[in-house]
Amino acid sequence: MSEATLQKYPDDHPPPRKFVLVISCVDYRLLDDLVRFLNHENLTNRYYHIAFAGASLCLSNAITEWPGPICVEPKFEHWRATLHDHLGSVLTLTGYKLSDVYIVEHRDCGAYEKFLGVKYYPHDGGADLSKEAADHATFAHALRDELKEWFRVHFDGIEKEQKKNTKKEKKAKVPCADDPLKPPHTHMFLMGLRGEVERIE
Ligand SMILES: [Zn+2]
Repeated sequence: MSEATLQKYPDDHPPPRKFVLVISCVDYRLLDDLVRFLNHENLTNRYYHIAFAGASLCLSNAITEWPGPICVEPKFEHWRATLHDHLGSVLTLTGYKLSDVYIVEHRDCGAYEKFLGVKYYPHDGGADLSKEAADHATFAHALRDELKEWFRVHFDGIEKEQKKNTKKEKKAKVPCADDPLKPPHTHMFLMGLRGEVERIE
């Protein structure tokens, strides 16, 4: 029995079809667990991976003011610009065949606690797992919606360019006109500290 089959993973979502982009946190405790989960998803050596502290937290525009006591406030607009630049590169590298995006959040995320100024696991007990899950869902949903909009705008631009360009230029600059440009399907997950995974609805 493989390691992956020992873990509990959700299986009520459509499987990834072609190329996949994985967006995760940088947390060092879950790197191997993330790979195991992706192997379970039949994604062994078949995904592009980018990692930012807090995963969706700082990549979405859901929060514009940060209530947490941040010593040095990260320039989140740079993180978002990097993500968007990278999305364009992934589309180029995959020949516009990016079919799925995985947003993998995780529990006990230091970025959530530091940047939001919340304590899901107070020292005197009483972990607020429901609020933690709800906060991750809020930002994952926001990022999913913003990614959908980013792809829509990006593809609209390409279609306009296709109409303007000559046939020869089309080949050089944009994907084959016969391939319909479709935004990738976004899946959202929350991983626990033992590597277990639940789907964010
Ligand atoms: Zn984290």
